[in-house]
Amino acid sequence: MNRKSALRITVLYDNRSTNPALKEAWGFSALLEQEGLNLLFDTGGDSPTLLHNMAALGISPTQIQRVFLSHFHEDHTDGLAGLIQAGAQPEKIYFLAATPEAYKARFQALGPYQEITAPAHLVGDWYTTGEISENTPEQALITRFPHSQVLLTGCAHPGIVRVTQRAYAQYSAPFAWVGGGFHLKDASPESVDDTLTALNALPIQTLSPAHCTGDAAIAHIQTALGQRARPLQVGAALEFAP
Ligand SMILES: [Zn+2]
Ligand SMILES: [Zn+2]
Repeated sequence: MNRKSALRITVLYDNRSTNPALKEAWGFSALLEQEGLNLLFDTGGDSPTLLHNMAALGISPTQIQRVFLSHFHEDHTDGLAGLIQAGAQPEKIYFLAATPEAYKARFQALGPYQEITAPAHLVGDWYTTGEISENTPEQALITRFPHSQVLLTGCAHPGIVRVTQRAYAQYSAPFAWVGGGFHLKDASPESVDDTLTALNALPIQTLSPAHCTGDAAIAHIQTALGQRARPLQVGAALEFAP
């Protein structure tokens, strides 16, 4: 397989939008595409918003090949049933074995699935951190390049520092990018600074806070990091070359 192809990430669902053609709502979803493969990371909190934004961005539900659910919270998973009703037929839905039973039964009914516990290879260059069990159990998605990696988080309930450290312990290549929900919305400015100090101990090129990072923490991170911070909103599209 040719591994020289770029990774493209498009944000489909977020509570921040700067594009009037796209709807904002509390939650997160992003599409990852690489080398003819794609994977939908989380599904947002409702399918009308998700499907509206997908249509506006020219993405059809039938294109979706895989679905990765970072954790069970509704703002990351409630878009899935409607997406499948709209024609998506994912080959595999990845969710944590530690998902509460009521949610797990719902996910299992929606298509072929794989329950995740340990770190694992998924497909292409995509890997899961496996379950990180502090606070709400969560998994994050890693794209591994030969000399770098890209890390996407849903809410980072276990803590963005812990999630990033976990990914780095699995694969010690520097991070071209760490993005997604950092769950700092209720954090004090001091605690955001502590988080940045801990993250700065790791080789990270660009940080892209989104969703539950919270507007105050996002502004704080931008001030502290300047060009190294690149906050996300619905419709944001990023490309990473290996
Ligand atoms: Zn959550
Ligand atoms: Zn969330």
